[in-house]
Amino acid sequence: MNDKEIDLLIQKEASRLKEQLVLIASENYPSFQVLDACGSIFSTKYAEGYPGKRYYEGCEIVDELEGLAISRAKEIFGSDHVNVQPHSGTTANMAVYLSALTHGDSILSMKLDQGGHLSHGSKVNFSGKYYDCYFYGVDRETEFIDYNEVEKLANEVKPKLIVCGASAYSRAIDFKKFSDIAKSVGALLLSDIAHIAGLVAGGVHSSPVPHSDFVTTTTHKTLRGPRGAMIMCKSQHSETIDKAVFPGIQGGPFMNMIAGRAVAFKEAQQPDFKEYSVNVVNNSKILASTLSKLGFRIVSGGTDNHQFTVDVSPQKATGREIAKVLRNIGIIVNMNGIPFDPLPPRITSGIRVGTPALTSRGMKGDEMEKIGDLIGQAILNKDNLGKLRLLKEEVVRITSPFSFPGYEKFEKSL
Ligand SMILES: *Cc1c(COP(=O)(O)O)cnc(C)c1O
Repeated sequence: MNDKEIDLLIQKEASRLKEQLVLIASENYPSFQVLDACGSIFSTKYAEGYPGKRYYEGCEIVDELEGLAISRAKEIFGSDHVNVQPHSGTTANMAVYLSALTHGDSILSMKLDQGGHLSHGSKVNFSGKYYDCYFYGVDRETEFIDYNEVEKLANEVKPKLIVCGASAYSRAIDFKKFSDIAKSVGALLLSDIAHIAGLVAGGVHSSPVPHSDFVTTTTHKTLRGPRGAMIMCKSQHSETIDKAVFPGIQGGPFMNMIAGRAVAFKEAQQPDFKEYSVNVVNNSKILASTLSKLGFRIVSGGTDNHQFTVDVSPQKATGREIAKVLRNIGIIVNMNGIPFDPLPPRITSGIRVGTPALTSRGMKGDEMEKIGDLIGQAILNKDNLGKLRLLKEEVVRITSPFSFPGYEKFEKSL
């Protein structure tokens, strides 16, 4: 049977991804080989348990598959133990909490509205409901993580677990410093590198692995794999982590997604992935400095990684408003709070901008300068429909020479 409705939606989404400028910091274009593995026959297999210790028969081949994914991940990150089964970054964090904490234990993590993640103890997330959560943030002046505050709070709270890593933070994270603080108060350290895993793999951000008891990451952000996540840990935690993932919080793993993850890991081991991650950061720096030169305020003054937040409040605009203005000309970002934002999360004073996806399409500095200029013009002319129409045409001119991995195959298959 032909499902024309779904085929059409796939075609429309492929066109959208070709025609728009995706600057969402957490999105990327995986290779066609990754997507192909995700859509493979491995979708069907039930494989509760781990390689060699399954609760189902017929797992010989998926055992090999999961073994390969694990050994590739270990080679990339140099971790003692890896679990590649978590369905998402949130689930990976949940498994770490379940293995390391009991109900009511204390966590010290980064404030959600200053760059942290929902799964780091937000009241609306299970983590904030089940654990006793305390938060550090950034310095009001520099907008860099305030390590003195982290240390002070760690001493006061004596948390069982310290969480570092962020969703909207453009500066390098000092994992050694976090580790020293955690050790000094007898806390365990979880480094959540969901956003920067690809930069760590490519060697353009320092690795948390030597300094952390647990490292969680998504595989679909800068790592350019399929949706999903993994957990790395020191060998003494390997059994409790595996038990926390299954049977603790998940049932059968998605073997097709593990196949996609394995392919992405192999890609991340190639020399051109290093080049990719260097380009992601260069592009981010060029885009941020282009906007900065046009007079826009970048939170913390710039970026060391794949993303940054633009404060649009000096332009008398809100994040929500600008995200919509940009969407209407084909530039896709998300609204994002700035540190100490007076506006609520559904409005915000900023937009978050990231370069992993456009870098995967092969865009470089020249394009970043043009795009920075377009974003700036759009913000300054947010109420001038004529001008916005011209900017939209410019977006089409910039995107048209750049495809994305596998686009022709989607086109052909439809
Ligand atoms: C994206 C992200 C996650 C969670 O990812 P999901 O797969 O959406 O659950 C966890 N932690 C951080 C810091 C993130 O940025």
